[in-house]
Amino acid sequence: MAPENQLSGKPLIIWDFDRTIMDDDSDRWVVVEMGLTQLFNQLRQTLPWNSLMDRMMEELHSQGKTIEDITNCLNRVVLNPQIISAIRAAHAHGCDLKVLSDANQFFIETILKNHGIYDCFSGIITNPTSVDEAGRLRIFPYHGSAVSPHGCDLCPPNLCKGFVLNKIQDPTSQAIKKRVVIYIGDGGGDFCPTLKLGGEDHVMPRKDFPLHRLISKSSTPIKPKVHEWSNGEELNKTLIRLIDLVSLKV
Ligand SMILES: [Mg+2]
Ligand SMILES: [Zn+2]
Repeated sequence: MAPENQLSGKPLIIWDFDRTIMDDDSDRWVVVEMGLTQLFNQLRQTLPWNSLMDRMMEELHSQGKTIEDITNCLNRVVLNPQIISAIRAAHAHGCDLKVLSDANQFFIETILKNHGIYDCFSGIITNPTSVDEAGRLRIFPYHGSAVSPHGCDLCPPNLCKGFVLNKIQDPTSQAIKKRVVIYIGDGGGDFCPTLKLGGEDHVMPRKDFPLHRLISKSSTPIKPKVHEWSNGEELNKTLIRLIDLVSLKV
């Protein structure tokens, strides 16, 4: 019988979305492209980010902008072809890919579908969205309604990515062997899950972005192996090399 802690051959790859899969930030993109910059800046200090984005969607609705207008705006986002190819290759290799993002379900789904890579992911864990009867896009916090508050002081109230990572890895199901995790991200919110990774895991921080800086100056030891990247080409090369490495080990 296989030992309980045996690592299965295919890694679990967790992708941040903004400034990782997408070079820009999806919230910023919609705010700027749809002419909301002034109102956004006005309210920035008074509302938490997540509520602020919900408020921005209310504004669009009051201006008569439809879901289709928001979709069209998101469809203008360009993704780096090297990142698309890394996602396709990892999926073709049999890896389990998930998005873990502080953006929101509607923005992420729309962008991934538009680039034909939505089906490469087994899940998108992010702030949920819905469209109300009036046709307004609503954006809700991940923690707070269906999921209880997290109490982690590293993370914003609406989402603790470390909490989600633990939930994904929860070994309550005996059938699931522990998988090697490759975590790809750039932001401060990606530091908490990085601290929860183990020595067999890998973290790929975007060079000179907040996660990279937090890892570099961390007083808590970082257990996963660290592989930095600066652009799509480096991300692609590093990821494919790591997938081969993890698969060979078993
Ligand atoms: Mg990010
Ligand atoms: Zn956290």
